[in-house]
Parts: sequence; C-alpha cells; structure tokens
Amino acid sequence: MNNLLNFDKEIAELIALEEEREKYSIRLIPSENYVSKAVREATGSILTNKYSEGYPRKRYYEGQENIDLIEQIAIDRAKSLFGSYGANVQALSGAPANLGVMLGLLKPNDKIMGMALPHGGHLTHGWKVSASGIYYDSVQYELNPETSMLDYDMIRDLALKEKPKLIIAGSSAYPRFIDFAKFREIADEVGAYLLSDMAHIAGLVAGGVHPSPVPHSHVVTTTTHKTLRGPRGGMALMAKGFVRKVNKGIFPGLQGGPHNHTTAAIAVALKEASQDSFKLYAQQIVKNAKVLSEELINHGFNLVTNGTDNHLILIDLTNKNISGKELSVALNKVHIVTNANSVPFDKRSPMDPSGIRIGTPAVTTKGMKETEMKEIAKWINLVSQNINNETKLTKIANEVKDFSLKFNLEN
Ligand SMILES: *Cc1c(COP(=O)(O)O)cnc(C)c1O
Repeated sequence: MNNLLNFDKEIAELIALEEEREKYSIRLIPSENYVSKAVREATGSILTNKYSEGYPRKRYYEGQENIDLIEQIAIDRAKSLFGSYGANVQALSGAPANLGVMLGLLKPNDKIMGMALPHGGHLTHGWKVSASGIYYDSVQYELNPETSMLDYDMIRDLALKEKPKLIIAGSSAYPRFIDFAKFREIADEVGAYLLSDMAHIAGLVAGGVHPSPVPHSHVVTTTTHKTLRGPRGGMALMAKGFVRKVNKGIFPGLQGGPHNHTTAAIAVALKEASQDSFKLYAQQIVKNAKVLSEELINHGFNLVTNGTDNHLILIDLTNKNISGKELSVALNKVHIVTNANSVPFDKRSPMDPSGIRIGTPAVTTKGMKETEMKEIAKWINLVSQNINNETKLTKIANEVKDFSLKFNLEN
C-alpha cells in the first residue's frame, strides 16, 4: 500500500497496526472472520468508482456492461449455493437488508414479531431503539426460562394472540439449531410472512452443517461477512412471488447506488463457499466449537444451553463471580478478543452483563483445530482466575502472541 503510505501516513500506519493485531491475537468474536486475498482484491478494486442505481439491465445510468454481468453472477451464485428462487445482493449490510425487506413487505406500523435483543435477537428484529421498532408495531418473543432454548409453543401462543404480519426467525447469540420449518408452520397459522435472518449461520448453511431456512421462508436475509467469510455486506434470498417486492424495498425503498466493489467480492466469496474445501471448513467450525465448549465445561464454566450445535458459545459467568465486561477486558489484555454479552434473563445491565459470547469461525479460518481449542479454553480459565494479576496476564499475553503468530493466513 505504497500510495497510501506516501499520501496519508497516519491512516496507513494504523492499518498496519491493525494487521499486526490480527496476526498476534486470537479472534473469538463469533461474527468476525478473515476474508481471502481474492475477496480483498475485489473489495479494493476500481469498481468503487461506478454508480449503478437499479438492477441488472434496468439501470438509470449508462456504462453498465461490466457491472451488470458482475451483479448477475453474484445473484446466480447466491441462488445456486442456497437453492433460492431469487436473490438480491445489494443490501449494504445485514441491518439494511432487514429494513429493506420490511419496507418491501409491510406498511408503516404493521405488526412484526422477532426475538428480544437480550435473549439473542438482533436490534433490527423489532428492538425499540432501531428503525424496526420505531416504524413498526413490534412484539418480541423470549426464550424458555427453564431451558434458555426457543420454545415453539410459547412463540405460537404469542403469534396467535398478536397476529403479526411478519415473524422473524434468527439470532445473534443462540448456540442451538433453529427449527425454521416450525417457524413457518406458525407463520402460516396466523397468516404472517416468515423472514429468516441467517446472518450468523449462513456459512454453516452453505457448508451443510446447519439446516437451511431457505425452503421454509418467504425471505431469508444474511450478512456476507460472518461465517460466510465474504466482504462486509448483505443479501436477501426470496421465494417465488417475493422477488419484485423485496427488490423494491431495498432499492428504491431504502438505498441508492449499490457498492459494486462489494458485489464483486460477494460473488468471489460465494464461489469460495461452493467449493468442497468450504464444507470441510464449516464442519471444522462446529467440531472446534464442540471441543471448546466441552473444555470450558471441564474448567467449571456454565454455558447457556450447556453446549452448542453451531459456531457460537455463550458463557454465563454468574458462578465465577466476575462480569462479562471484566472478563472480556482481561481477555483482550492477553490478546484473546471476545465480547461481553447478556445471557437470557440477565439480572445485570447490558453495559456490564453476566456473559461473554465466543465463537470459532475466525480461528478455524486460521487453521486451528481441536488441540488448539483446548489451549484456548485453558487460557480463558487462567485469565478468569487472574483478572487483577497483571504479572500473570502479561505472561499469558506473551504465550498467546507466540501461539497465534504460528497460524499465518496464506491465502
Ligand atoms: C450481525 C447481524 C445483523 C446485522 O448485520 P450488520 O452487517 O452489522 O448490519 C443482522 N441480523 C443478525 C441476526 C446479525 O447477527
């Protein structure tokens, strides 16, 4: 990046520092990953220079002969990878994908029903501070208080009582499979649309290790940068009869011109996700998460639902007498990067909740396997026991650095 270094040393140096941090730290935030160099080349390409409001062959500006082909390839690859009838690859990220779909399917103040944020739902599933909770009449379902699992009878009862126009399935912190067929049954019973948001699990669905929401949903939204390992972006996959509505919601409903450099990078990521090696990647993510959760349980940690079916683990630290914020800050000091997270029915505040959320997509991309998960669990335990012991934390930090630097990303 010589041009950047010559013109703007300040920014170039910070990017270089971030690159170093990526190399020596262990990335356990379950929504983060590392993209391939091919994806990065597309993201950093001259495609950022072009305006192309509209959709392939229906544009408002001229000069789209290459862009039309790129966007069509991305659409076709999304449809074929996930088996959907239609696809929109223009949503600028996961949140605008959800809002775009709502604009396409609903009228202002229509009733929507999604999972409550403190139980693992996303802001955009109707939480009050987000547009989805401000411009729509939102009711929220929660997890079962005994099991911390989705309780389809509870969800059905609420749907029958509230009669929402749209039901949202999907989560940012749920460690178990989601039964999308069950959600569709409930939606059909009350005459609602089903929007399944697979932002976290899209890569697992593509790799065949999580049941797909696509056959059961009217619309599926996703980010492209989590387990799917593409650039930061969003997509919507539509069933028959929903293509025009959703396209209209995203553009012109919500957005202006698409980010063509991102569209190209999404196409590249979708090609990567259709290779056999990606199936192995998805399988390894889940194997790693299972070993990591077993090891944590052996170290005396309480896990929400006692384990995981996917890439994600939610640790409830109540029995350890430390808060999620305290542990995540201490872990960051030793270069293990996680996030504090509410646990279901949390008694603490969202700014300093009872849990931390971790996941295996990024460490699996780096090539770590079961053996490394045991090391990571050991360090998490040690840090939790030495929260205020700076000498000990410095020693662990050095060990983590040496360990992490051995896993270089080649591609
Ligand atoms: C991450 C996430 C989103 C939002 O994605 P952004 O790209 O951050 O806008 C939406 N829904 C779910 C379930 C998510 O986990």
